[in-house]
Amino acid sequence: MNITKPFGSTLELIGNTPLVLLKGASEAAGCEIYGKCEFANPGSSVKDRAALYIIRDAEERGELKPGGTVVEGTAGNTGIGIALVANALGYKTVIVMPDNQSKEKMETLRALGAELVLVPPTKYADCNHFVHTSRRLAEETEGAVWAGQFDNTANRKAHLEGTAAELWEQLEGRIDGFTCAAGSGGTIAGVGMGLKERDENIRIALTDPHGAALFSYYAHGELKAEGSSVAEGIGQGRITANLEGAPIDTQFRISDEEGLKWVEQLLRGEGMCLGLSSGINVAGAVELGKQLVADGRKDARVVTMLCDTGFRYLSTLYNADWLRSKNLPVFDWLEAA
Ligand code: PMP
Repeated sequence: MNITKPFGSTLELIGNTPLVLLKGASEAAGCEIYGKCEFANPGSSVKDRAALYIIRDAEERGELKPGGTVVEGTAGNTGIGIALVANALGYKTVIVMPDNQSKEKMETLRALGAELVLVPPTKYADCNHFVHTSRRLAEETEGAVWAGQFDNTANRKAHLEGTAAELWEQLEGRIDGFTCAAGSGGTIAGVGMGLKERDENIRIALTDPHGAALFSYYAHGELKAEGSSVAEGIGQGRITANLEGAPIDTQFRISDEEGLKWVEQLLRGEGMCLGLSSGINVAGAVELGKQLVADGRKDARVVTMLCDTGFRYLSTLYNADWLRSKNLPVFDWLEAA
């Protein structure tokens, strides 16, 4: 990104995020591991990219008209991205969110002016699931469109055209592996497709948290969830339209404890305060790096996503009582505080 000249609009601040060498992860893997700083987006998460593409696509299709409303069901970050983009373009936002997500995300959505509808967390098959509730609300609201991030492939297009192209340029065409976890699957599918178009030897790995069904799907062709995770925004139970045709070569399953170890290292060792999906992604990137090195690619370069800021989780991941309530290890410095 050329930042020596002013930008013409806030929306141009979305994407073109920096890439940073992760020293601790590189040391653990025995090769170079890079993190894409998605927390540097205006809404502090990777989901600003999908929000912009989805809204632009709805405008181009003539569905979203001046003064209209964008309705979405989200774990929070997509809602924050949509609210920012909608504000910048003069649309209203209605966000449906499960009530077990972090209160920081709820407060942020309210602060941005979104109308927030909280629903109990349920399985996707339940008609009151946040995704179905948001679709119904969009149908019932005059002048509203439903963003539908899970099955709207404008989401993965943001990564195919944006993130993948940026990575290729930032690493001057020398990338050996990419991995991240999936929520909607837009990131893994879009980046995977965009990188494979450029070099089909780039290894694309899905990093799945416990409690998600994709690891077993890519390993044995069966959607099967085991265990659980407190990570927000990741952990998918079905093949969304965004995941269809995703070029996944290999897969890892990462526990919350392992992800938290990397959240700690990223904070204490690298100086970045991030969410748990970033820790899980970095754990997966270390696995992928080790695998590539073992396969003889000694100077491998692996990239993963640093999806959102940890400031969104001060009441959870960075709170000793909360960690204890979830039977998770408490960071030393929080224990002492
Ligand atoms: N990490 C966080 C914190 C998220 O909010 C999301 C999106 N829900 C993801 C990762 C996963 O991104 P995607 O939807 O592109 O799979």
